[in-house]
Amino acid sequence: MCGIAGIVSQQTAVNSELFDALTMLQHRGQDAAGIITNEGHRLFLRKENGLVRDVFNNDDQMQKLKGMMGVAHVRYPTAGTSTSAEAQPFYTNTPFGISLSHNGNLTNAEELKQELFLEDRRHLNTESDSEVLLNIFAHELLQRGVLRLTPEDVFAAVSGVHLRCRGAYACVAMITGFGVVGFRDPFGIRPAVYGVRETAKGKDYMIASESVAMDALGYEMIDDIAPGEAVLITLDGKLHKRQCAANPMYSPCIFEHVYLARPDSVMDNIYVYKARLRMGVKLAEKILREWPEHDIDVVIPIPDTSRVAGAELAARLGVLYREGFIKNRYIGRTFIMPGQAQRKKSVRQKLNPVDIEFRGKNVLLVDDSIVRGTTSKEIIEMARDAGAKKVYFASASPPVRYPNVYGIDMPTSSELVAYGRSVEELEKMLGADRLIYQDLPDLIEAVRAGNPAITRFDCSVFTGEYITQDITSEYLSQLELFRSDAARAARSKSQTAIELPNA
Ligand code: AMP
Repeated sequence: MCGIAGIVSQQTAVNSELFDALTMLQHRGQDAAGIITNEGHRLFLRKENGLVRDVFNNDDQMQKLKGMMGVAHVRYPTAGTSTSAEAQPFYTNTPFGISLSHNGNLTNAEELKQELFLEDRRHLNTESDSEVLLNIFAHELLQRGVLRLTPEDVFAAVSGVHLRCRGAYACVAMITGFGVVGFRDPFGIRPAVYGVRETAKGKDYMIASESVAMDALGYEMIDDIAPGEAVLITLDGKLHKRQCAANPMYSPCIFEHVYLARPDSVMDNIYVYKARLRMGVKLAEKILREWPEHDIDVVIPIPDTSRVAGAELAARLGVLYREGFIKNRYIGRTFIMPGQAQRKKSVRQKLNPVDIEFRGKNVLLVDDSIVRGTTSKEIIEMARDAGAKKVYFASASPPVRYPNVYGIDMPTSSELVAYGRSVEELEKMLGADRLIYQDLPDLIEAVRAGNPAITRFDCSVFTGEYITQDITSEYLSQLELFRSDAARAARSKSQTAIELPNA
């Protein structure tokens, strides 16, 4: 997962607004950040590994990003590697000068690389599938054979992208001197929204991964970009939109609602916060149904994501809700730490128990998901050390058993604790007195209640059924080779030697 944003303004330079938007999207990727702006025929780019505040850490850097139109990106590495040369936006000169930020993952990137090289005569600088996407879009635009672009040409190019690319892509592309176009794959797997702000000089528009990027800047959300749709904002402040896919089918990623998105975002017309509340309700109903004689004294969330579901779960069970773990905000996310030993250690550094909330009590710990199981195992032990009598554990989502191929940095199957294990086995393995998972139909209902018009979600991490129907066992084995801890460690060693300078 990554975060994308694009702004076309009629009244103000977009540098600081794109910075603010990226800061609001920082949870979607902490690995690298970048902004590219356009003024006249010039482009101004800064991108680098690091948090938004570290990449853009002085006024001088910001002031160099001139112009009233730009696109931006925060990266969470998925496909490709994590050098600063792979930070986004990516840029290609031909045709028209196009810059692109992408969230998602192309599942046919390897075939497209061959096509680009052998048929389209285009060349790539990196391993990133986002650079592939940029070049496919550029090639499709070039095929129009025009010197002066119209919105029709841009929409035709997006249709061309839909015909050639598979997988997940929510993108913003800036065409120099022309405008910014946002588009989403025909399944709408990754989110994208757009909004408007009225000014004395006309309308400013923003396109972003999540609505929170707009809230602080005074933009009013207009809508989600529909699956397959393209929304084009031209430099003169006009909005054009078009359905560019032949058979779009709304199938957004359900894991956005479980974990990825901020709770204060609205995506695909569903309040993430309310979806998480409903996950708590469904969990409570399951517990009351299957374990009516439960002896839970207190519900304790594992901060931060599970707080919303946890509070509602406690309310529905009629038991206390307490913040039993205090989070140190200055430790990096445990999930992306390389290697299991480091991950284990950092769970303890990151979360510290308030032992009076545990002593002598039967506690129900709640997390949004169990992925590797490192957090839950460690935390269950911490709860016991803090004096809990019984430690129960609930996950607001079903067992995560399959890798994600649409842009979430999930471990390989063999590293997912629930892969090939029953709930009873997991209960033992994690050391819980009882383990309760949300059922998939309940999770779907909890999310779907916000927008019943959506009839299908991508639930592949729970089911192993991939919505694009192109995922072979060979693809998954390649992914396994690429994503395992061992492969990452080997890559990071060799990358230090060949790291490219900042673009
Ligand atoms: P673990 O079971 O130790 O791998 O970690 C589970 C925790 O990681 C849960 O609390 C989630 O909040 C969080 N989580 C789930 N998916 C991801 C992800 N793709 N990236 C980072 N953290 C995640």
